[in-house]
Amino acid sequence: MDIKKLRELFEDNYEELKYETGRSITLNMKEFAWQQVKLYYEKLGKVAKDMTEAEVKLILPEQVTPKGKKYTIEGIVDIVEKEDNITLYDIKIHNAEEVRNDKDLYRGQLNVYAHMWKNLKGTEINNMAVIATAPPPKLRQATSIGDEIAVDIIDDWNPIVELEIDNNEFEKQIKCFGETVDKIEEGEFKAPPLSKLKEVKKGQKAPFGTAVCRHCDARHSCNSYSQYINKVKLDEEILEVVESEDMVEQDEWKDAFMK
Ligand code: SF4
Repeated sequence: MDIKKLRELFEDNYEELKYETGRSITLNMKEFAWQQVKLYYEKLGKVAKDMTEAEVKLILPEQVTPKGKKYTIEGIVDIVEKEDNITLYDIKIHNAEEVRNDKDLYRGQLNVYAHMWKNLKGTEINNMAVIATAPPPKLRQATSIGDEIAVDIIDDWNPIVELEIDNNEFEKQIKCFGETVDKIEEGEFKAPPLSKLKEVKKGQKAPFGTAVCRHCDARHSCNSYSQYINKVKLDEEILEVVESEDMVEQDEWKDAFMK
């Protein structure tokens, strides 16, 4: 498929989603999404073509929290099956480096999906990985200005982060989900202070506010994030990261609140 055709499909898909959800996004956000789709296709077209089952919905109903509340776990994965070898992929719009530096967080979730797959299909998952589609800042910058060096940077970029299968992870993760559900049900949660959002975890480049909050659905009603994204009292070195990583996010924020 050529890029023109891919763009047409992207536009059709965007219109469909707009119709289904009744929500739109800013032009900048849309272009950012297009860049991710284009780069994903250029870099991982082969993996995409090899997919034997795409967007498989996994459901694990009737789970019970430590305090007796019932809940259901759902997830969507992609599957590549080759010569009795099954690989489970979870596509995330996160940055591959962030995923590599925080593998424990993702390993638990994917092991739950592997367990759900076995319940549903009766077969074992042999390999699993996150496909982290967010281009690294260097690549994003190069593509936005149409820079030729983007080709080399694409070659260096590895968005597939493999994770180990560990059957013990399932129990651990389910316990953690249950405890979290109990906390939410009892209204026992509050956003951390701005100082936490400014923290850079060991092995990560971006602070919590960029690495984690950017993917949080509650961020538009979170006071700490509002201070962070609007650069209230941020230190110089954090400002630099926020500047390059969160430009698109700031546009969305302004669009949502300043019209
Ligand atoms: S944006 Fe989400 S993850 Fe970040 S501090 Fe607020 S509630 Fe927590």
